[in-house]
Amino acid sequence: MTDPRRNAQATTPGRALIARLPAVRGRLTPDAPLQDLCWFRTGGPADVLFEPADAADLAQFIRQLDRDVPVTVLGLGSNVLVRDGGIAGVVVRLGARFRPVAVDGCRVEAGAGASGMQVATAARTAGLAGFEFLRGVPGTVGGAVAMNAGAYGQDTSDVLVEVQGVTPEGHLVRRAKAEIGFGYRQAPGAADLIVTAAVFEGRADDPGAIQDRMDRIAAEREASQPLRTRTTGSTFKNPPGDRRAWELIDRAGCRGLTRGHAQVSEKHCNFLINRESRASAADLEALGEEVRRRVAETFGVTLDWEIRRLGRPAPAVPPAHAPDNGPGSDPDTDQRGDRP
Ligand SMILES: Cc1cc2nc3c(=O)[nH]c(=O)nc-3n(C[C@H](O)[C@H](O)[C@H](O)COP(=O)(O)OP(=O)(O)OC[C@H]3O[C@@H](n4cnc5c(N)ncnc54)[C@H](O)[C@@H]3O)c2cc1C
Repeated sequence: MTDPRRNAQATTPGRALIARLPAVRGRLTPDAPLQDLCWFRTGGPADVLFEPADAADLAQFIRQLDRDVPVTVLGLGSNVLVRDGGIAGVVVRLGARFRPVAVDGCRVEAGAGASGMQVATAARTAGLAGFEFLRGVPGTVGGAVAMNAGAYGQDTSDVLVEVQGVTPEGHLVRRAKAEIGFGYRQAPGAADLIVTAAVFEGRADDPGAIQDRMDRIAAEREASQPLRTRTTGSTFKNPPGDRRAWELIDRAGCRGLTRGHAQVSEKHCNFLINRESRASAADLEALGEEVRRRVAETFGVTLDWEIRRLGRPAPAVPPAHAPDNGPGSDPDTDQRGDRP
Protein backbone atom coordinates (compact mmCIF):
# COMPACT_ATOMS: atom_id res chain seq x y z
CA MET A 1 0.00 0.00 0.00
CA THR A 2 1.22 3.52 -0.76
CA ASP A 3 1.61 6.02 2.06
CA PRO A 4 0.28 9.31 0.60
CA ARG A 5 2.38 11.38 3.05
CA ARG A 6 5.59 9.76 1.82
CA ASN A 7 4.48 10.39 -1.72
CA ALA A 8 3.82 14.05 -0.96
CA GLN A 9 7.30 14.37 0.58
CA ALA A 10 8.95 12.67 -2.36
CA THR A 11 7.34 15.12 -4.75
CA THR A 12 8.50 18.43 -3.24
CA PRO A 13 10.46 20.31 -5.92
CA GLY A 14 13.66 19.99 -3.91
CA ARG A 15 13.39 16.26 -3.31
CA ALA A 16 12.55 15.63 -6.94
CA LEU A 17 15.54 17.71 -8.05
CA ILE A 18 18.12 16.47 -5.57
CA ALA A 19 17.86 12.94 -6.96
CA ARG A 20 19.12 14.29 -10.32
CA LEU A 21 22.09 16.28 -8.98
CA PRO A 22 25.77 15.25 -9.18
CA ALA A 23 27.49 14.00 -6.02
CA VAL A 24 29.38 16.71 -4.13
CA ARG A 25 31.78 17.06 -1.18
CA GLY A 26 29.84 20.07 0.09
CA ARG A 27 26.23 20.16 1.24
CA LEU A 28 22.97 19.90 -0.71
CA THR A 29 19.76 20.84 1.12
CA PRO A 30 16.34 20.32 -0.50
CA ASP A 31 13.54 22.90 -0.08
CA ALA A 32 15.89 25.18 1.86
CA PRO A 33 14.34 28.29 3.47
CA LEU A 34 16.16 31.44 2.35
CA GLN A 35 14.50 34.02 4.60
CA ASP A 36 17.24 33.89 7.22
CA LEU A 37 19.88 34.22 4.50
CA CYS A 38 18.49 37.47 3.14
CA TRP A 39 18.33 40.95 4.67
CA PHE A 40 14.65 41.37 3.77
CA ARG A 41 13.75 38.23 5.76
CA THR A 42 11.00 37.28 3.34
CA GLY A 43 10.47 35.08 0.29
CA GLY A 44 10.21 31.37 -0.44
CA PRO A 45 12.72 28.48 -0.35
CA ALA A 46 15.36 27.33 -2.79
CA ASP A 47 14.49 24.04 -4.49
CA VAL A 48 18.01 23.01 -3.50
CA LEU A 49 20.68 24.98 -1.63
CA PHE A 50 24.27 24.01 -2.51
CA GLU A 51 27.14 25.00 -0.22
CA PRO A 52 30.28 23.78 -2.03
CA ALA A 53 33.30 22.49 -0.12
CA ASP A 54 35.65 24.57 -2.29
CA ALA A 55 36.04 26.01 -5.80
CA ALA A 56 36.94 22.61 -7.32
CA ASP A 57 33.79 21.05 -5.82
CA LEU A 58 31.72 23.89 -7.26
CA ALA A 59 33.33 23.60 -10.71
CA GLN A 60 32.83 19.84 -10.87
CA PHE A 61 29.19 20.18 -9.79
CA ILE A 62 28.49 22.77 -12.50
CA ARG A 63 30.30 20.64 -15.13
CA GLN A 64 28.15 17.62 -14.37
CA LEU A 65 24.86 19.45 -13.82
CA ASP A 66 22.09 19.01 -16.41
CA ARG A 67 21.94 22.18 -18.49
CA ASP A 68 18.20 22.63 -17.86
CA VAL A 69 18.68 23.14 -14.09
CA PRO A 70 18.81 26.87 -13.30
CA VAL A 71 21.61 28.06 -11.01
CA THR A 72 21.38 31.22 -8.88
CA VAL A 73 24.11 32.61 -6.61
CA LEU A 74 23.44 34.19 -3.26
CA GLY A 75 25.93 36.20 -1.24
CA LEU A 76 24.74 37.73 2.04
CA GLY A 77 21.38 38.56 0.46
CA SER A 78 21.81 42.29 1.09
CA ASN A 79 20.70 43.27 -2.41
CA VAL A 80 18.08 40.69 -3.33
CA LEU A 81 14.35 40.26 -3.01
CA VAL A 82 13.49 36.55 -3.18
CA ARG A 83 9.91 36.17 -4.36
CA ASP A 84 7.35 34.26 -2.28
CA GLY A 85 7.34 31.16 -4.50
CA GLY A 86 11.07 30.65 -3.91
CA ILE A 87 13.86 29.98 -6.39
CA ALA A 88 13.70 27.16 -8.93
CA GLY A 89 16.74 24.94 -9.36
CA VAL A 90 19.95 25.25 -7.36
CA VAL A 91 20.96 28.22 -5.21
CA VAL A 92 24.71 28.34 -4.58
CA ARG A 93 25.97 29.91 -1.38
CA LEU A 94 29.67 30.16 -0.59
CA GLY A 95 30.53 29.29 3.00
CA ALA A 96 33.53 29.50 5.33
CA ARG A 97 36.01 28.00 2.84
CA PHE A 98 35.43 31.02 0.61
CA ARG A 99 36.14 33.61 3.29
CA PRO A 100 39.93 33.89 3.63
CA VAL A 101 41.47 37.32 3.06
CA ALA A 102 45.24 37.61 2.49
CA VAL A 103 47.36 40.72 2.00
CA ASP A 104 50.56 40.67 -0.03
CA GLY A 105 52.23 44.06 -0.55
CA CYS A 106 49.58 46.37 -2.01
CA ARG A 107 47.39 43.44 -3.10
CA VAL A 108 44.49 41.88 -1.24
CA GLU A 109 43.18 38.47 -2.30
CA ALA A 110 39.77 37.64 -0.88
CA GLY A 111 37.44 34.69 -1.18
CA ALA A 112 34.08 35.58 -2.70
CA GLY A 113 32.31 34.71 0.56
CA ALA A 114 34.35 37.21 2.62
CA SER A 115 32.42 40.27 3.72
CA GLY A 116 33.23 43.79 2.56
CA MET A 117 33.89 44.67 6.19
CA GLN A 118 36.48 41.85 6.45
CA VAL A 119 38.31 43.18 3.37
CA ALA A 120 38.19 46.80 4.56
CA THR A 121 39.50 45.80 7.99
CA ALA A 122 42.34 43.62 6.63
CA ALA A 123 43.38 46.42 4.26
CA ARG A 124 43.32 48.99 7.07
CA THR A 125 45.46 46.78 9.31
CA ALA A 126 47.98 46.39 6.47
CA GLY A 127 47.95 50.18 5.83
CA LEU A 128 46.19 49.96 2.46
CA ALA A 129 43.75 52.70 1.45
CA GLY A 130 40.98 52.50 -1.16
CA PHE A 131 38.75 49.96 0.57
CA GLU A 132 37.11 52.27 3.11
CA PHE A 133 33.82 52.40 1.18
CA LEU A 134 33.39 48.64 1.69
CA ARG A 135 32.98 49.41 5.40
CA GLY A 136 29.41 50.46 4.60
CA VAL A 137 28.46 47.78 2.06
CA PRO A 138 27.09 44.83 4.01
CA GLY A 139 27.61 42.12 1.38
CA THR A 140 30.26 39.66 0.20
CA VAL A 141 33.15 40.11 -2.22
CA GLY A 142 31.18 38.07 -4.80
CA GLY A 143 28.18 40.38 -4.41
CA ALA A 144 30.39 43.48 -4.56
CA VAL A 145 31.89 42.33 -7.87
CA ALA A 146 28.52 41.30 -9.37
CA MET A 147 26.91 44.61 -8.36
CA ASN A 148 30.03 46.77 -8.77
CA ALA A 149 29.03 47.97 -5.33
CA GLY A 150 30.13 51.45 -4.38
CA ALA A 151 29.66 54.47 -2.19
CA TYR A 152 31.20 57.89 -1.55
CA GLY A 153 32.38 58.28 -5.15
CA GLN A 154 34.18 54.95 -5.26
CA ASP A 155 33.21 51.52 -6.47
CA THR A 156 34.54 47.99 -6.50
CA SER A 157 36.06 48.30 -9.97
CA ASP A 158 38.35 51.10 -8.70
CA VAL A 159 40.35 48.63 -6.62
CA LEU A 160 39.76 45.38 -8.50
CA VAL A 161 42.60 43.68 -10.38
CA GLU A 162 41.00 40.36 -11.38
CA VAL A 163 38.25 37.93 -10.48
CA GLN A 164 38.31 34.17 -10.30
CA GLY A 165 35.19 32.20 -10.94
CA VAL A 166 33.39 29.24 -12.44
CA THR A 167 31.85 29.49 -15.93
CA PRO A 168 28.46 27.95 -16.86
CA GLU A 169 30.45 25.07 -18.40
CA GLY A 170 32.16 24.41 -15.07
CA HIS A 171 35.62 25.80 -15.87
CA LEU A 172 37.63 27.73 -13.29
CA VAL A 173 38.81 30.94 -14.94
CA ARG A 174 40.48 34.26 -14.13
CA ARG A 175 39.27 37.51 -15.70
CA ALA A 176 41.13 40.78 -15.56
CA LYS A 177 39.27 43.98 -14.72
CA ALA A 178 39.53 45.20 -18.35
CA GLU A 179 37.63 42.12 -19.56
CA ILE A 180 34.71 42.82 -17.23
CA GLY A 181 33.70 46.25 -18.54
CA PHE A 182 32.30 47.49 -15.24
CA GLY A 183 29.53 50.10 -15.24
CA TYR A 184 27.30 51.73 -12.63
CA ARG A 185 26.14 48.79 -10.46
CA GLN A 186 26.92 46.29 -13.17
CA ALA A 187 29.68 43.91 -14.17
CA PRO A 188 28.65 42.58 -17.60
CA GLY A 189 31.85 40.63 -18.26
CA ALA A 190 31.42 38.66 -15.02
CA ALA A 191 27.65 38.13 -15.29
CA ASP A 192 28.07 34.51 -16.40
CA LEU A 193 30.49 33.65 -13.56
CA ILE A 194 30.04 32.32 -10.08
CA VAL A 195 32.76 34.47 -8.57
CA THR A 196 34.93 32.45 -6.17
CA ALA A 197 37.65 35.01 -5.32
CA ALA A 198 38.94 38.44 -6.28
CA VAL A 199 42.27 40.24 -6.22
CA PHE A 200 42.33 43.95 -5.35
CA GLU A 201 45.03 46.59 -5.15
CA GLY A 202 45.19 49.48 -2.71
CA ARG A 203 47.69 52.25 -1.99
CA ALA A 204 49.85 52.64 1.09
CA ASP A 205 48.51 54.96 3.80
CA ASP A 206 48.50 55.40 7.55
CA PRO A 207 46.19 52.86 9.28
CA GLY A 208 45.00 55.55 11.70
CA ALA A 209 43.92 57.83 8.83
CA ILE A 210 42.19 54.91 7.10
CA GLN A 211 40.36 54.04 10.32
CA ASP A 212 39.22 57.68 10.67
CA ARG A 213 37.68 57.55 7.20
CA MET A 214 35.98 54.23 8.00
CA ASP A 215 34.58 55.69 11.21
CA ARG A 216 33.22 58.69 9.32
CA ILE A 217 31.50 56.39 6.84
CA ALA A 218 29.98 54.36 9.69
CA ALA A 219 28.70 57.50 11.41
CA GLU A 220 27.22 58.95 8.20
CA ARG A 221 25.41 55.68 7.49
CA GLU A 222 24.05 55.49 10.99
CA ALA A 223 22.66 59.01 10.64
CA SER A 224 21.10 58.60 7.19
CA GLN A 225 20.07 54.94 6.75
CA PRO A 226 17.59 52.64 8.52
CA LEU A 227 20.35 50.14 9.35
CA ARG A 228 18.54 48.17 11.99
CA THR A 229 15.54 47.32 9.81
CA ARG A 230 14.85 44.58 7.29
CA THR A 231 16.02 46.33 4.13
CA THR A 232 18.35 45.81 1.18
CA GLY A 233 19.75 49.29 0.80
CA SER A 234 19.02 51.40 -2.27
CA THR A 235 16.04 50.01 -4.13
CA PHE A 236 16.57 51.92 -7.38
CA LYS A 237 19.63 53.11 -9.27
CA ASN A 238 20.16 56.83 -9.63
CA PRO A 239 18.96 57.85 -13.11
CA PRO A 240 21.54 59.15 -15.61
CA GLY A 241 22.53 62.80 -15.05
CA ASP A 242 22.74 64.44 -11.66
CA ARG A 243 19.32 63.45 -10.30
CA ARG A 244 19.18 61.25 -7.22
CA ALA A 245 16.59 58.47 -6.98
CA TRP A 246 15.75 59.33 -3.35
CA GLU A 247 14.98 62.94 -4.24
CA LEU A 248 12.59 61.96 -7.04
CA ILE A 249 10.89 59.42 -4.75
CA ASP A 250 10.54 62.02 -2.01
CA ARG A 251 9.18 64.70 -4.32
CA ALA A 252 6.72 62.23 -5.86
CA GLY A 253 5.23 61.92 -2.37
CA CYS A 254 6.36 58.35 -1.67
CA ARG A 255 8.26 58.81 1.63
CA GLY A 256 6.57 56.54 4.18
CA LEU A 257 4.23 54.93 1.61
CA THR A 258 3.07 51.47 2.69
CA ARG A 259 1.56 48.34 1.26
CA GLY A 260 0.75 45.70 3.83
CA HIS A 261 3.87 45.58 6.02
CA ALA A 262 6.12 46.88 3.26
CA GLN A 263 7.11 50.52 3.62
CA VAL A 264 9.19 53.19 1.91
CA SER A 265 11.59 54.19 4.69
CA GLU A 266 10.91 57.51 6.38
CA LYS A 267 14.63 57.86 7.08
CA HIS A 268 15.98 57.16 3.58
CA CYS A 269 13.26 57.02 0.98
CA ASN A 270 15.22 54.96 -1.58
CA PHE A 271 15.14 52.12 0.98
CA LEU A 272 12.17 49.74 1.27
CA ILE A 273 11.67 48.11 4.64
CA ASN A 274 9.91 44.98 5.83
CA ARG A 275 8.14 46.12 8.99
CA GLU A 276 8.12 43.59 11.83
CA SER A 277 9.40 41.00 9.29
CA ARG A 278 5.79 40.54 8.19
CA ALA A 279 5.83 41.85 4.61
CA SER A 280 5.51 39.42 1.73
CA ALA A 281 7.92 39.72 -1.16
CA ALA A 282 4.88 40.44 -3.35
CA ASP A 283 4.02 43.49 -1.21
CA LEU A 284 7.60 44.77 -1.31
CA GLU A 285 7.79 44.35 -5.07
CA ALA A 286 4.37 45.90 -5.67
CA LEU A 287 5.29 48.85 -3.44
CA GLY A 288 8.48 49.33 -5.46
CA GLU A 289 6.46 49.25 -8.69
CA GLU A 290 4.05 51.83 -7.25
CA VAL A 291 7.01 54.10 -6.45
CA ARG A 292 8.28 53.71 -10.03
CA ARG A 293 4.80 54.51 -11.35
CA ARG A 294 4.48 57.68 -9.27
CA VAL A 295 7.97 58.90 -10.14
CA ALA A 296 7.33 58.27 -13.86
CA GLU A 297 3.99 60.07 -13.65
CA THR A 298 5.45 63.06 -11.78
CA PHE A 299 8.82 63.50 -13.52
CA GLY A 300 8.71 61.32 -16.66
CA VAL A 301 11.70 59.40 -15.29
CA THR A 302 11.73 55.59 -15.24
CA LEU A 303 13.65 54.29 -12.23
CA ASP A 304 15.56 51.03 -12.73
CA TRP A 305 15.60 48.47 -9.94
CA GLU A 306 18.98 48.14 -8.24
CA ILE A 307 17.72 45.31 -6.05
CA ARG A 308 17.88 41.98 -7.87
CA ARG A 309 14.48 40.30 -7.74
CA LEU A 310 14.89 36.54 -7.83
CA GLY A 311 12.58 33.55 -8.20
CA ARG A 312 8.90 33.01 -8.82
CA PRO A 313 5.76 34.52 -7.30
CA ALA A 314 3.75 32.41 -4.87
CA PRO A 315 1.29 30.14 -6.69
CA ALA A 316 -2.18 31.67 -6.78
CA VAL A 317 -4.54 30.13 -4.20
CA PRO A 318 -8.14 30.05 -5.40
CA PRO A 319 -10.43 31.82 -2.89
CA ALA A 320 -12.61 29.49 -0.76
CA HIS A 321 -15.58 31.77 -1.43
CA ALA A 322 -16.19 34.96 -3.37
CA PRO A 323 -14.54 38.00 -1.72
CA ASP A 324 -16.99 40.55 -0.38
CA ASN A 325 -14.71 43.57 -0.26
CA GLY A 326 -16.76 46.70 -0.53
CA PRO A 327 -15.41 49.83 -2.15
CA GLY A 328 -12.29 51.06 -0.29
CA SER A 329 -11.90 47.88 1.71
CA ASP A 330 -9.04 46.44 -0.38
CA PRO A 331 -6.32 45.58 2.15
CA ASP A 332 -3.67 46.11 -0.54
CA THR A 333 -4.62 49.71 -1.18
CA ASP A 334 -1.55 51.89 -0.86
CA GLN A 335 -1.67 54.43 1.88
CA ARG A 336 0.63 56.86 3.60
CA GLY A 337 2.57 55.55 6.57
CA ASP A 338 2.45 56.54 10.20
CA ARG A 339 2.88 60.28 9.66
CA PRO A 340 0.23 62.57 11.10
C1 LIG B 1 21.94 48.77 4.82
C2 LIG B 1 22.46 48.54 3.44
C3 LIG B 1 23.32 49.46 2.86
C4 LIG B 1 23.81 49.27 1.56
N1 LIG B 1 24.65 50.20 1.03
C5 LIG B 1 25.15 49.99 -0.21
C6 LIG B 1 26.07 50.95 -0.79
O1 LIG B 1 26.42 51.95 -0.21
N2 LIG B 1 26.53 50.71 -2.03
C7 LIG B 1 26.16 49.61 -2.74
O2 LIG B 1 26.64 49.43 -3.86
N3 LIG B 1 25.31 48.69 -2.23
C8 LIG B 1 24.80 48.85 -0.99
N4 LIG B 1 23.93 47.93 -0.45
C9 LIG B 1 23.52 46.78 -1.28
C10 LIG B 1 24.40 45.52 -1.10
O3 LIG B 1 25.02 45.49 0.17
C11 LIG B 1 25.43 45.38 -2.20
O4 LIG B 1 24.86 45.34 -3.48
C12 LIG B 1 26.30 44.13 -2.01
O5 LIG B 1 27.40 44.19 -2.88
C13 LIG B 1 25.54 42.82 -2.25
O6 LIG B 1 26.34 41.75 -1.80
P1 LIG B 1 25.70 40.38 -1.29
O7 LIG B 1 26.81 39.44 -1.00
O8 LIG B 1 24.75 40.63 -0.21
O9 LIG B 1 24.97 39.90 -2.61
P2 LIG B 1 23.47 39.38 -2.75
O10 LIG B 1 22.53 40.42 -2.31
O11 LIG B 1 23.35 38.04 -2.15
O12 LIG B 1 23.39 39.24 -4.34
C14 LIG B 1 23.36 40.40 -5.16
C15 LIG B 1 23.66 39.97 -6.60
O13 LIG B 1 25.01 39.51 -6.67
C16 LIG B 1 25.05 38.18 -7.18
N5 LIG B 1 26.12 37.47 -6.49
C17 LIG B 1 26.33 37.37 -5.14
N6 LIG B 1 27.42 36.62 -4.91
C18 LIG B 1 27.92 36.25 -6.12
C19 LIG B 1 29.02 35.47 -6.53
N7 LIG B 1 29.85 34.88 -5.65
N8 LIG B 1 29.21 35.29 -7.85
C20 LIG B 1 28.39 35.86 -8.77
N9 LIG B 1 27.32 36.60 -8.44
C21 LIG B 1 27.09 36.80 -7.12
C22 LIG B 1 23.68 37.60 -6.87
O14 LIG B 1 23.35 36.54 -7.76
C23 LIG B 1 22.78 38.80 -7.06
O15 LIG B 1 22.47 38.99 -8.42
C24 LIG B 1 23.44 48.10 0.83
C25 LIG B 1 22.57 47.17 1.43
C26 LIG B 1 22.10 47.38 2.71
C27 LIG B 1 21.20 46.34 3.33
